[in-house]
Amino acid sequence: MLSYQHGYHAGNPADIHKHLTLVTVSEYLLKKPAGIHFYDTHAGKGLYSLQDSQAQKRQEYLAGVQQLVQLRENLPADPWSFFFTQLDALHGGKVTPENLQYYPGSPHWVSALRRTQDQHTVFELHPGEHQQLAELHPNHTGYVVHGDGLSGVVNMLPPRLPRLQVLIDPAYEVASEYTDVASTVEAILKKCRHAVVMVWYPLLAAEKHHELCERLTHALDAPLLQSEWIYKEKPEGWGMYGSGMLVVNPPWVLQQQLTAALQPLAEQLGQPVEHRMLRYNAE
Ligand code: SAM
Repeated sequence: MLSYQHGYHAGNPADIHKHLTLVTVSEYLLKKPAGIHFYDTHAGKGLYSLQDSQAQKRQEYLAGVQQLVQLRENLPADPWSFFFTQLDALHGGKVTPENLQYYPGSPHWVSALRRTQDQHTVFELHPGEHQQLAELHPNHTGYVVHGDGLSGVVNMLPPRLPRLQVLIDPAYEVASEYTDVASTVEAILKKCRHAVVMVWYPLLAAEKHHELCERLTHALDAPLLQSEWIYKEKPEGWGMYGSGMLVVNPPWVLQQQLTAALQPLAEQLGQPVEHRMLRYNAE
């Protein structure tokens, strides 16, 4: 059963947090010349219209990319300049709150960064989302596989290239995805100890992420950074109130970079926001 479609959520604050982390980690790894194989296990359709019926139904982008564009002049150039370069290019000129129309998905952010010596493989299981992704220009996507990204990435390892980066960004439609993700991260690290693995998870009222975070904290013999952005009051019953990222083998400057990038945004959004960084197992 695959009912989730990211178009309803594209450009929301969780996307900003996830893609900021993805870009910041990638930019750090790309400072060294050795080739990197980038994997994206849950790619989505790569590019989203914010004017279509899915995005307009919930308008989640208003609290995310719309606010980001509004606050552009008050944000530190590093690392937001790359974000705005991409948004400007997609809009054929300077993006403004008035002309904002598109938001890029994770395949696009990595495609915009990767070099000739790197490789980029993305997985998408939903037939409709896969078809739209496959129809995009390779500049937006990387090499597209129609299939399960969790088993897919493990089966493709170890990489031929010297370095490996993996983004795991499921919809968590079913409870077993939390354990499936944990098992996949463990399997990746078993095959490739130096892999840099990023896992996104939602902060839900039901707090389902604790088991995933605790399992990886204890199972992995590698540094693990946890970044959580709480951008709403925690709801009483159902609903998402924030965004979480785990980064295995993070760049040592990541904690500082994410704090510097997100804190001004969080403060200026005027919402009840916390930004916490925890480091487990690190030297
Ligand atoms: N990573 C995307 C981004 O940041 O733009 C968003 C991905 S969205 C949260 C999750 C996607 O995973 C959906 O498009 C869904 O169809 C797809 N999906 C669900 N289960 C999958 C699986 N086992 N393997 C690959 N894709 C899957």
